[in-house]
Amino acid sequence: MEQEHKGMDQAKSLWLTESKRHSFPTVTEDLTADVIIVGGGISGIATAFEMTERGFDVLIVDADRLLQGTTGHTTAKVTSQHDVYYHELIQHIGMPKARLYVEANEKAKELIQTRVKEHKINCQLEIKNAYLYTKEESGVKKLKKELDAYTQLGIDREWKTELPFDADIQAALVMTEQAQFHPLHYINALIELLIERGVRIFEQTTAVDVKESERPAVVTKSGHHLTGRYIISCSHFPFYDGKGLYFTRIHPEQSYVVAAKTTKPLPDGMYLGIDQPVRSLRTAEFHGEEVVLIGGEGHKTGQGGDESAHYEALEKFGDNTLGIEEVLYRWSTHDMVTMDQIPYIGHLTKNHPNIFVATGFRKWGMTTSHVAATLIGDLIEGKSNPYESIFTPSRLVSYPFVKDFMKENTNVAAKLISGKLKQTDQTIDDLKPGEGGIVSYEQKKCGAFKSEDGNVFLVDTTCTHLGCEVAWNNSDRTWDCPCHGSRFSITGEVVEGPAKKPLKRSYKEQ
Ligand SMILES: Cc1cc2nc3c(=O)[nH]c(=O)nc-3n(C[C@H](O)[C@H](O)[C@H](O)COP(=O)(O)OP(=O)(O)OC[C@H]3O[C@@H](n4cnc5c(N)ncnc54)[C@H](O)[C@@H]3O)c2cc1C
Repeated sequence: MEQEHKGMDQAKSLWLTESKRHSFPTVTEDLTADVIIVGGGISGIATAFEMTERGFDVLIVDADRLLQGTTGHTTAKVTSQHDVYYHELIQHIGMPKARLYVEANEKAKELIQTRVKEHKINCQLEIKNAYLYTKEESGVKKLKKELDAYTQLGIDREWKTELPFDADIQAALVMTEQAQFHPLHYINALIELLIERGVRIFEQTTAVDVKESERPAVVTKSGHHLTGRYIISCSHFPFYDGKGLYFTRIHPEQSYVVAAKTTKPLPDGMYLGIDQPVRSLRTAEFHGEEVVLIGGEGHKTGQGGDESAHYEALEKFGDNTLGIEEVLYRWSTHDMVTMDQIPYIGHLTKNHPNIFVATGFRKWGMTTSHVAATLIGDLIEGKSNPYESIFTPSRLVSYPFVKDFMKENTNVAAKLISGKLKQTDQTIDDLKPGEGGIVSYEQKKCGAFKSEDGNVFLVDTTCTHLGCEVAWNNSDRTWDCPCHGSRFSITGEVVEGPAKKPLKRSYKEQ
């Protein structure tokens, strides 16, 4: 079926279109505060909120506008059901720590619910059961192991052999009493409270370095120093490495979401189909009407081939499952994944008593960002926290993960080298209006985008983070780095870090 794409705004999420936007100035002078937070996504705002609850004077800077990063493009299931996860987690960190991981996330979910209630936040928070389902025999085996893990961990659960919609499944594992919300309505309410509490917030201010000392300072691109007793990196990919070698320990994974009006409603629940390709379903409210968010098609950033095909696959799935009346929005973004699939939350390294990091949420950052907020708050106040050893970025990682990590780094190195070696016969003339790609121009290889009115924008395709070759993303019209997830606009400006400098524009527009 040919779907309608009425008024569809490419690559813009339903959340961003709907929610109000605050606007903040850029930093123009040296400043001081108790706590300097770099990054204004859910982890930065939740942590800022926590620190103000504890009486600290907080300053937040964001390279772009608040909430435009991954948080503005999430699906916002608020749950401890982090995919098929717990059976393996028990194998790797043992039962006591796995129990603590669940507890940390359940407490984070409760913290969100308490904040919503306490501050009367209107963010469409709804309690829902979270389903993992499979149509395959091998999936049933996986889910049975996961059910066993739920039982041992004391997670409230149900086992089902059918879903409340037509999906022809073999089995489903339900985690009861989970939640979903409108992420930006929630975070914007926290931002308003932060403003009332006197928190200083700055946008369009990129942090490029840290001057380490007893009172460390974030150095901005404009050369200003933001000095604090504590610095917290909530910049998704850590903006400052501090010899923590984060670029070897995390990688970005891209995913896609389509928001659509469907002919059949999605029955109560949040659903995740675990067979490949993975599929996610939840409802959302849009202008008073119920729509369905269809997610999935994950792959390593910059390595997904034709981006439009991913949206089409999701729409086809949505149409087969519920019938699609109208596609409203499509968007994609990536999240960071750590070596052992557990977030890095804590001191940047053992040698950084006053610099902290929160990253690697593996597409489950609604709860884990709040785990980060309370854990970092406790570390700063010198209070003991039962979850510290699970999330510390300095933890030892067991062998299977090191093996995967070696594979991951080989993949990064391969991308770095293969991109450099690959030659192309394609020229600017071969590009259709609205298309981009690698071309040969004046005997040099470069990235080109031809706009609808025929203008050509040329960039050097060497990523300014660590030198990998960026790849063209035709759907979002960005240049994406396959190694660490930096994204650049058609003119080479940084859309998303870790890169801080734009791509070189070594040639003039035509
Ligand atoms: C498609 C998709 C679906 C998802 N669905 C779910 C879900 O259902 N449930 C769930 O729990 N999680 C989900 N997640 C994960 C969740 O959205 C993320 O983990 C979370 O939003 C990450 O938040 P963050 O604050 O760490 O990063 P971001 O939201 O990316 O915020 C980081 C901020 O830091 C700023 N920044 C970066 N570098 C600098 C710098 N040098 N100087 C200053 N500022 C800087 C950026 O501009 C950005 O605003 C999903 C993720 C994806 C990709």
